[in-house]
Amino acid sequence: MLESKYIEISDTLRKHGLQVTSQRILIYDYLVHTTEHPTAQQVFEDVSRFLPGISKATVYNTLETLSSHGLIQKVNPQSGVTRYDGNTMLHSHLICTHCHRIVDCFGRFVEEESVPEGIWDGFKIERTCLIFYGICGECQHRLFSNRGENKRSRRKGRGEQVTPFEESREKVDAWLTVRADG
Ligand SMILES: [Zn+2]
Ligand SMILES: [Zn+2]
Repeated sequence: MLESKYIEISDTLRKHGLQVTSQRILIYDYLVHTTEHPTAQQVFEDVSRFLPGISKATVYNTLETLSSHGLIQKVNPQSGVTRYDGNTMLHSHLICTHCHRIVDCFGRFVEEESVPEGIWDGFKIERTCLIFYGICGECQHRLFSNRGENKRSRRKGRGEQVTPFEESREKVDAWLTVRADG
């Protein structure tokens, strides 16, 4: 249910002492929805569709706010810009160093990962995230089958990956208004 989803998100925001706005609801909802680990620029482009006129600064600030409260997480690849992940469950990432796609990997081995004692006295692990760098099957295929196509095909593929996310600001605004009245 749409409404229960918004109630849940609003409650989460409030629990973190954050003001509930339609922008925050929609950006958070969008990130929870996608498995793409978008960059801030991609988030901006995608949310602009249902938050027309939203500024880049608002999107960037919202991402900072949500991640500083642990509602989303940042993934910092070795090279390239920060990516954002709406899934805060313990998981690791497989990163293709060629097309820069990131795929989630869930498994108990992450929880069981530990560091040898004595490396840093008193160091308490709060979060573990393993990153596996490699080249995905599709890129390997492209790289080794038709080298001339690399540059072009490297850039495509995002559209195919994006899970359609259809929400509208009007809907959330109307819902927030009803909530505020009642
Ligand atoms: Zn790849
Ligand atoms: Zn992830």
